[in-house]
Amino acid sequence: MRRCLILFALWLAGCTAMPPDDPAYRSFVAVAQDVEPVAEAECLSKDPNRNCDFQIELDLSPAAPPNAFQSVDRTGRPVVVFTAAMVKSFRNADEMAFVMSHEVAHHILGHLDRQRRNAQQGAVLLGELVSKEGGSPEEIANAQYVGAVVGARSYSKSFELEADTMGTVISHLAGYRPSVGVRYFEQIPDPGDMFLGSHPANPERILVVKETIRAYGLN
Ligand SMILES: [Zn+2]
Repeated sequence: MRRCLILFALWLAGCTAMPPDDPAYRSFVAVAQDVEPVAEAECLSKDPNRNCDFQIELDLSPAAPPNAFQSVDRTGRPVVVFTAAMVKSFRNADEMAFVMSHEVAHHILGHLDRQRRNAQQGAVLLGELVSKEGGSPEEIANAQYVGAVVGARSYSKSFELEADTMGTVISHLAGYRPSVGVRYFEQIPDPGDMFLGSHPANPERILVVKETIRAYGLN
């Protein structure tokens, strides 16, 4: 409630990118209310001892570029943040539900922790290697940095595809059509198949979603 009041005050001051009577804003609230309980149930079924109480937030600052991401707050609560520009970029509620379900899937699949572990292992591995070769402290620190980046990126693409697969099922269970939601990939730039890129190419992601739809008999 306090948060709503803060948002409302910002809106009165003309500082937000989206007033509460904006159809995109209302659609965001409705989709979040549909997706959150499904995400929570799915998360608890994987691990009943985890914090699965998702907070789905809207970042109303007008300068924020289109983006959606998943994080965990200081208390361990999973948070999914959408910027106003991102919310406005969706052509329908199915696309919005699809991306929201993808983000909650990252948490359910434990991707942040796994990525952190990969980064740590990469840093240790490359740091030790350069140390054994007699590298200077600066060279070792540099190797640790490179190792962390490579480690974090090494499974990044497969994490995205895993989140696409689970997100497809979650959006269906929340009452939306992943076959329509997947068309979101048609309107975003294709990162292509870059070596150590963070995201897989769009056609690969579309294929994975369509396979999931077919395997589970979704629509
Ligand atoms: Zn993702």
